[in-house]
Amino acid sequence: MTLTPLIATRNLSVHYHLRGGIVGPAPFVRAVEDVSIEIAPGSFFGLVGESGSGKTTLGRAMLRAAPISTGDVLFDDGEVDYSLKNLGKKELKDYRKRAQLIFQDPYAALSPRMTVRDIIAEPLEVMGLAQSREEIDARVREIATKCRLNVEHLRRFPHAFSGGQRQRISIARALVSGPKFIVADESVAALDVSIQADVLNLLKSIQEDMGLTFLFISHDLSVVAHVCDHVAVMYLGRLVETAPTRALFSGPLHPYTKALLSAIPSLDPDDRGKAQKLEGEIPSPTNPPPGCKFQTRCPVAIDRCRVEEPQLESAGVGHKVACHLWHE
Ligand code: SF4
Repeated sequence: MTLTPLIATRNLSVHYHLRGGIVGPAPFVRAVEDVSIEIAPGSFFGLVGESGSGKTTLGRAMLRAAPISTGDVLFDDGEVDYSLKNLGKKELKDYRKRAQLIFQDPYAALSPRMTVRDIIAEPLEVMGLAQSREEIDARVREIATKCRLNVEHLRRFPHAFSGGQRQRISIARALVSGPKFIVADESVAALDVSIQADVLNLLKSIQEDMGLTFLFISHDLSVVAHVCDHVAVMYLGRLVETAPTRALFSGPLHPYTKALLSAIPSLDPDDRGKAQKLEGEIPSPTNPPPGCKFQTRCPVAIDRCRVEEPQLESAGVGHKVACHLWHE
């Protein structure tokens, strides 16, 4: 990566203590473990993995919505630079204007008792970003138009809208404060396939138009291939592979990435039946296996994998992988 990152994690870990049982110490969850990534300004960075891989927790830690246990998140947009671990109250309020989240479920994310105008306007009011009602209305109309919402419908309530339209309302609400960094967490997963492409194209055009930087969290690699320029793959809280999208899709090196890619449905009849089925479930983060965390499901694991955890190594330009056998 040549540009100075807008946001970067440095050996970031997020650990949680669960409530203790009657016997023994309280279980300890390593939701994110020693993750370092860099996201260049204006890029669309994909974060993929199965449910329980830690991708949502990582995204939330980058918004300071999950606790940082060790390591740090560094943000620098040219106007301010923050260490998220050490943010004071005033700086955190300022950071909230610069970094926003688009939720997964457009049905649960919008208050049914507020009009669309009020839903979009709320962040401006809470953050004190507009002086008058006229100023708020003008900003709401501007951002609604960018999100392809009909301004005549701003007085309506969310129930009057389809899933795709509701997600566009959520996007407008996330954008109204003028953020630089957006975390989109499974933002199209709850939508019909026909609507997904529409919302993805909107996100991509807004990103280019407004020069935004996206962390796009998804379990769906075909969606990631469509919009992202760089991808990171997580497994059990660890980063196992990261690469420019084209390099990752044309030459995956980690057995987990290969399995995820092989499971993408193909229109080519010759490719059908070639999916590498991942056996078993992702292990519990309270009791991860020793050595490589993927060794319990890896089809090519060797004895070394059961005792020694592989570290991320450079495997090409912008390409890193954590596997003892990646070069074989
Ligand atoms: Fe599989 Fe071993 Fe590589 Fe882990 S280190 S992914 S177990 S081959």
